[in-house]
Amino acid sequence: MSSLAEASKKLEQYCKAMSLHYQLLGAPGEDNALFVKVDGGQAQSRILFDCGENTVSQLPFSEVYALESVCFSHLHMDHIAGFDGLFRQLYPRLERPNLIYGPPQTRAILQRRLQGFLWNLSGEDPQAAWTVVDVTETHAHSSQFWLREAFALEHPMAERALENAVLLEHPLYTLEVRTLDHLTPSLAYLLRETERVNVNMQALSELNLKPGAWLAALKAGTLQANMLEGQRITHEVEDLERLLLKHSPGESIAYLTDFLLDEKALSRLVPWLSGVTTLVCECQYLAVDCELATRNHHMFTLQVAELAARAKVSDLILMHVSSRYSALEREELLAEVRSIFPHARFPESW
Ligand SMILES: [Zn+2]
Ligand SMILES: [Zn+2]
Repeated sequence: MSSLAEASKKLEQYCKAMSLHYQLLGAPGEDNALFVKVDGGQAQSRILFDCGENTVSQLPFSEVYALESVCFSHLHMDHIAGFDGLFRQLYPRLERPNLIYGPPQTRAILQRRLQGFLWNLSGEDPQAAWTVVDVTETHAHSSQFWLREAFALEHPMAERALENAVLLEHPLYTLEVRTLDHLTPSLAYLLRETERVNVNMQALSELNLKPGAWLAALKAGTLQANMLEGQRITHEVEDLERLLLKHSPGESIAYLTDFLLDEKALSRLVPWLSGVTTLVCECQYLAVDCELATRNHHMFTLQVAELAARAKVSDLILMHVSSRYSALEREELLAEVRSIFPHARFPESW
């Protein structure tokens, strides 16, 4: 093996590329939710999109306990029915903020939800706070609710303006939103990993440097002289800049559910979703039931396929399929989507 290939191999363990993992929760014809983990090597971030019945229970406690935020599309029962199970695990959590996002009215509905238990606790640390955020494309309105007050009072926080509908700027990703029409606002989410910084292997070899933990620190911008593991860097700044020449865009995942996909929505969504790696999308109805889809402000097969094809996404995962269909009809539904967008599939767990 050449020294360059050897170095590349060693690098993997030190500079693990950022990666996006996701798991579609819930069964076919039943409630669903999407769990996403962004793995930056040294740090991970976990987000849950919606919280239908029997979804969170499919995740290990450690993953639920590490959730950074819960993002609701909207608060129809089939998207929030599993919230009690989540809340039961997290309500006294102090290790990280308890954050919930959703469309307007989320604060009002969630406060009633948080209050809906008897809270005469003994032996619990009552310091936990829950922050609930009403989100539009232009603003985020937050309020806090405190366990020690049994969540009875709303503590409004400063309203935040969103630039380009970016809800979150996390070190590992950005999270953008769009408001869609489901006879009520339904939020679509798009998570994009931040740009990846790669090590220029050619430069590493030319500078006679060996891979090590110091490269991970270099990538993270936290390298200090005492981390160099005895190696000599002659022209410090120039050499380090040469090592980080390559940048590549990260992966992306979009979560879209419960809305009317008319021409207007399509023309807004296609450029937004253009080139997205994974589109996780509702596919409630077969084409034969298109009238039902339009009446209920849901989507049917050919629309979902057209959206994925026009946006040229790499991967399309279908979810939130109507409970009216048998297993055989669900296969028909997949075939209809594939007739236009061959890369469509159901989640692996189905
Ligand atoms: Zn709905
Ligand atoms: Zn729904």
